[in-house]
Amino acid sequence: MILNGDRGDANGPTALDVALQQMNEAADLIGLDESTRKMLSKPKRTLSVSVPVRMDDGTVEVFDGYRVQHSLARGPAKGGIRFHPEVTMDEVIALAMWMTWKCAVVDIPYGGAKGGIVVDPRKLSIGEIERMTRRFTSEISIIIGPDEDIPAPDVNTNPQIMSWIMDTYSMERGYSIPAVVTGKPVEIGGSKGRADATSRGCVFTIADLASRIDMQLEGTTVAVQGYGNVGSNAAIMLEEMGCKVVAVSDVEGGIYNSRGLAARSVADTVDEAGSVVHYPDAERCTNAEVLTMDVDILVPAALENQITSSNAPYVQAKIIAEGANGPLTPEADVILRDRGCIVIPDILANAGGVTVSYFEWVQGIQSLAWTAEQVRRELKRRMDAAFDAVYGWAQEEGTDLRTAAYVIALQRVARAITLRGLYP
Ligand code: NAD
Repeated sequence: MILNGDRGDANGPTALDVALQQMNEAADLIGLDESTRKMLSKPKRTLSVSVPVRMDDGTVEVFDGYRVQHSLARGPAKGGIRFHPEVTMDEVIALAMWMTWKCAVVDIPYGGAKGGIVVDPRKLSIGEIERMTRRFTSEISIIIGPDEDIPAPDVNTNPQIMSWIMDTYSMERGYSIPAVVTGKPVEIGGSKGRADATSRGCVFTIADLASRIDMQLEGTTVAVQGYGNVGSNAAIMLEEMGCKVVAVSDVEGGIYNSRGLAARSVADTVDEAGSVVHYPDAERCTNAEVLTMDVDILVPAALENQITSSNAPYVQAKIIAEGANGPLTPEADVILRDRGCIVIPDILANAGGVTVSYFEWVQGIQSLAWTAEQVRRELKRRMDAAFDAVYGWAQEEGTDLRTAAYVIALQRVARAITLRGLYP
């Protein structure tokens, strides 16, 4: 079993190994032509940058940063920016590739991108984070833009950081360009409903699946790994729907209460004290224990490679909704499928974030604002349509949901490549 929520087995597959294996399995299934497969196996464009930052003590630190555009076949590139000490170029390529499929599954006109800085932001002051964000934005500004590549939040980045990205890009051009980034605060062109959109979309897919398999959500037990934007909002929404959230964790460890945790109070504890482990009305447990807890629904919402061949045999959940990107390895997928566990794959389960990012971008370009109700209704419509298509294909062909989602996504991207033809 993995311990304390690190990134799976040291010798296990990397995120890029996983992403390529998933793509190749779907490509085999649909008989994808070799040239398209070769093109999609590599990112279209990668940019490595050095990010020098004046620290508070007057010294200069230089951080490594990356921006990757995997595919532009269906539209501008879209994907978040992550601040994390274990970011690598390969990880960012995998995440960009997953964004390509995710945008295609929910049928929004984007290709996939991702970015990251190798940094532990908990060790930086707010001023240092702002200067690092601004310099990184300036360094990658040669490839981002509202028509080219639109960043968004991911692990350890938030609406304030998106504001600095928007401001830096706008300052360098001399006028405001809100549509260069999504996940901004509403006051400067963000969309209502973006902050919790990833979790809302995830919960829509859980409800869709529950209704197909006649599972009542009332009283259903839930465990959530990662209690940041995605995990905490998913826990709060599932609790509002009648589920009992019994275990949650973050980078510091996990907590458990068989009578149920109060999801919003746990989020308040994180805001005030920095971690779920300070929540008083619960017992402590490890991150690994949260993943293998005896619950009906598990929402991994932290990082990649959390459920591998080592711990998959011990996972007891009946449904796993991948709030995080790439939390399961392909080997874990097979083990869980054999055990009758239904996995709602990341490219579907967490696509609500990029979907509302798309709404934000559309509002930015048109200089108008949708109501919260409009955003929620349109998100539900798109998530339900994507779920129906994926579930329907899986039922017809007798596959799991990940295979179905990949096939649908790959077919859409491949079709765009065929229609556009090979330049020159
Ligand atoms: P976040 O920074 O808000 O939260 C991350 C959470 O994971 C924190 O609670 C952190 O403590 C925890 N964590 C970090 N390292 C951990 C570890 N080693 N073990 C256990 N927990 C750990 O990030 P987020 O935006 O909620 O993103 C979480 C996941 O969801 C990522 O995989 C991200 O790519 C994915 N995702 C995010 C969005 C979005 O809109 N924010 C959209 C789609 C997918």
